[in-house]
Amino acid sequence: MAHSYRTRVIVLLLLLVATIQFPVFLSVYFATRGNALEQADERLDVGARVFNRLLETRGQQLRSAVGLVAADFGFREAVASRDEATVQSVLVNHGGRIAADFAVMLDLKGRVTTSTLDIEDDAGATPFAALFARAGADETVSGIAATGNEPFQIVLVPVKAPQRIGWVGMGFRMDAALASEFRKLSGLEVSFVVADAKDGLHIYSTLPAELQQALARALGDQVDVAPASIELGDDEYLSRRLPLGEAGSVEAVLQASMESAMRPYASLRRQLLLISTLAFALSVLGAWLLARGVTRPVQQLADAANRIGRGDYLAEVATARDDELGRLAEAFRSMQRGIADREQKITHLAYHDALTNLPNRANIERQLLEALATADSSERLAVLMIDVNRFKEINDTLGHPIGDRLLVNIGQRMRSAVRASDTVARLGGDEFLLVLGGADARVARRVAEKLVAAVTEPMQLDTLELFPDISIGIALFPEHARTADDLIRRADIAMYDAKNARIPITVYESGRDAQHLRRLSLINDLRRAAENGELVVHYQPTLDLDHGRITHVEALARWLHPREGFIQPDEFIPLAEHSGSIRLITDWMLRTVIRQCREWGDQGHAISVAINISAIDLASGNLPATISRYLEQHAVSPQRLVLEITESAVMRDAALALDMLRKLKACGLRLAIDDFGTGYSSLSHLKRMPVDEIKIDKSFVMGMADDNDDAVIVRSTIELGHNMGLSVVAEGVDNPRALRMLEDYHCDMAQGFLISRPVAVEDLTDLLAAQRDAVKTTLEST
Ligand code: C2E
Ligand code: CA
Ligand code: CA
Repeated sequence: MAHSYRTRVIVLLLLLVATIQFPVFLSVYFATRGNALEQADERLDVGARVFNRLLETRGQQLRSAVGLVAADFGFREAVASRDEATVQSVLVNHGGRIAADFAVMLDLKGRVTTSTLDIEDDAGATPFAALFARAGADETVSGIAATGNEPFQIVLVPVKAPQRIGWVGMGFRMDAALASEFRKLSGLEVSFVVADAKDGLHIYSTLPAELQQALARALGDQVDVAPASIELGDDEYLSRRLPLGEAGSVEAVLQASMESAMRPYASLRRQLLLISTLAFALSVLGAWLLARGVTRPVQQLADAANRIGRGDYLAEVATARDDELGRLAEAFRSMQRGIADREQKITHLAYHDALTNLPNRANIERQLLEALATADSSERLAVLMIDVNRFKEINDTLGHPIGDRLLVNIGQRMRSAVRASDTVARLGGDEFLLVLGGADARVARRVAEKLVAAVTEPMQLDTLELFPDISIGIALFPEHARTADDLIRRADIAMYDAKNARIPITVYESGRDAQHLRRLSLINDLRRAAENGELVVHYQPTLDLDHGRITHVEALARWLHPREGFIQPDEFIPLAEHSGSIRLITDWMLRTVIRQCREWGDQGHAISVAINISAIDLASGNLPATISRYLEQHAVSPQRLVLEITESAVMRDAALALDMLRKLKACGLRLAIDDFGTGYSSLSHLKRMPVDEIKIDKSFVMGMADDNDDAVIVRSTIELGHNMGLSVVAEGVDNPRALRMLEDYHCDMAQGFLISRPVAVEDLTDLLAAQRDAVKTTLEST
C-alpha cells in the first residue's frame, strides 16, 4: 500500500514536471524552427534576387556581345555573301570573348545556318522555337530555353544589311558549374530543371546525385504546387521554384537546408534537453524522497500497530518528528501504553480472584499445565485441594460480608504459610488449591499441616470470634496422576474423603477414582429411583421407656439398586442431597409412610411415625402444603407424624428454617431435632425453635456406657430437654447398660439395635400385632 502511494507521488510529480517542461520544450522547438525558417526564407528571397540579377548581368553580357557581332560590317557582308568560313570564325571569336557556350547564326525562318555548337535538332528546326517566336521586327530577344534537354540563357539579335538577313545569337549553358558558382555566392543549393515531355525531368544541380533524384521525384509528384519544404534524404529543404524558360519549360529551384538553418539552435536545444532531463531526474529523486518521507513513517507506524496487534507493547514507536506524523506517532505511543495498561488489568482480572486477589482457577490450571508439560517422571509435584468446613453455615448465619472476610483472611493465612514460589489459588466458593513444586507425600503432608495450623487459629472479625477449619486432599505427581485434570480431581476426591472422615488431611488413595465414578453414576440413577420403585422403607421402633412399649417408629429409606443391590442411606442420602434428588425421595417417603400410617391405624395400631427431612426440603417452600395434602388424602392426623430435622440442617439457614418450622408446626405436625449434640446450635437457638423432641446423637449414646464424658453429655442433654419442656429420645442404644443408664436419667424414649434394627414393613406390622396381643394378655391376666 505504501509502495503504491509512493509510486503515485512519483508519477504525479513527474507529470507535473512534464506538463511544465513539455510546452517549454515545444515552444522553444517551434520558436527556433520558426526562426530558422524565417531566416532560410529570407536567404531564399535574397538568393532569388541575386539569381535574377545574375541572369540579368549575364543577359547584358550576351546582349552586348551579340550586338557587336550583328553590327560588325564584315560579318554582315559575310552573311550576305554566305561566306560560311568568315561567319564561323567571327562567331567563334566573339563568342570566345565572353566565354559564351555557343554562338549561332539563324536564317529568317529560325533555322541554324552556322553554329559553334551542334545544337540543331533532327527536324532541322530551330532549337529555340518558342524563343524565336517572340522575335519581333527588330527586337532583341533574350530568354532561357532548353535544347537537347540542356537549359541555356540565350540572346538573339537580327542582322541587317540593311534589310534583315538573319539572326545572330549567343548563349550560356545553365549547368552544374553555373549552379555551384551561384551556390558560392548565395550559400543555397541550386538546381536547374528541364521538363521534357518525352524524357521527364533533367536536373543540373549542386545537390549530390542521390538527392537530385529525390528532388526529381518530389517535383514530379507535385507538378503545380510550389512546395515550401521538400524532404531530401535526411534533410529538409526550404525551397523556392523560379520558372525561367518559355512556358515554364525550365525552372531554377533554390533550396536552403533546414539542417544548416537549425544548426545555430542545435546547441540551445541540446542544453534545453539536458536541462529537461536533469529536471526530470531531480523531480524523480525529489518525489521519491518526498514519498519516502511520508511512507516511511507511515510504514513504521503500521509496523508498530502490527506489533501492538500481536501483543508486543514494549516495542518503541519511533518517529521523532514534530509534524502531523510525529503527533500521530505520539498518539500511537499513548494508545500503546493505554492498551498495555488495560491488558495488564484485564489479564490480572482474568487470572485473579476478585475477592481474595489470589490466582484463580484458570491461572492455577495454566501453571499446573505448564509445570507438567516440562516434568518427567523423576520430578515431584503435589496438588492440595483445600475446602473450608461448614463455610455455608457460617455464611448463612453470619452473613455474606463476614463470609467474604473469612475467605480473605483464610487466603492470607495460607499465602503466608507457604513459600512465595508456591501458588495458592481460589477455585471459587470455599475451595482453594495449592500447587507444590518438587513436593513428595512427606513434604505435601507437612505443608498441609502447616496450612491447617495457620488457618485454624481463632479469627477475630469485629466482635465475632470464629474458629475456621479446613479439609485438605492431596494428590501427587506422578504416582496418583500425570495430568492436571486428574491431579485436581483426585485431590478433590481425597478432600471429600477427609471431610467425610472428619480428619483434616487425606492423601489420595488409588482406587478412590472408581468410587468417585460410582458416586457419579449413583447420582444419575437416584433421579429415577423413586419412580422406578427401587425405594423401600424400613421402620425402626422407638421404645417408650415410661411404659415399656413401642409408641414410635422411624421410617428409614432403603435403595435397592438394580445392579448394586442394597445401598445404605449413609451413602445415597448425601448424594441425593448434593444433586437435589432428595426432594423426590422425601416426597415418595411422605406418601408411602403416610399411607402406611393409615393402614396401621385401620389395623388398630395407634403409632407415630418419624420421617427424616433434609435441609434442602426445608428450603422448598411448599413442604407444609404437600404434607397436609397427603395427611388429608389418607385421613391421618398430623399428630401421628414426626419430622426429624438434623441440627446442622436447621443451622444452615437459621432464619429460613425457623420460619419453615413454625409453618410445619402450625399444621399440627410434631418436630424433632435429630443428631442433637453434633451441630453448633446454641441454647438460645433451641429456645426459639418450635420443636417437641430432641434426639441425642448415637455417637454419645453408643459411648456412654464406657465413656463418662459421653454419659455426662447425655445426662445433661436429657435434663436440658426436660427443662425446656421437650421429650428426649436416645438413638443408637445397642447395649443393656446404656438402656439402664437412660432409664436412670429419665430419658423418655430409646431407639437402637438393642430394641430393634430397622425392619421391613411386614415385620414391623407383626411386631405391632405381637405387642398388642402381649398387652391384651397382660390386661386380661390382671
Ligand atoms: P438417622 O436419621 O440418624 O437414622 C438413624 C440411623 O442409625 C439409621 O441408619 C439406623 O439404622 C442407625 N441405628 C439405629 N440404631 C442403631 C444402633 O444401635 N447402632 C448403630 N450403629 N446404628 C443404629 P440408616 O438407616 O443407615 O440411616 C442413616 C441415615 O440416613 C439416617 O440417620 C438419616 O440421616 C438418613 N436417612 C435415612 N433415611 C432417610 C430419609 O428417608 N430421608 C432423609 N432425609 N434421610 C434419611
Ligand atoms: Ca433420624
Ligand atoms: Ca440420628
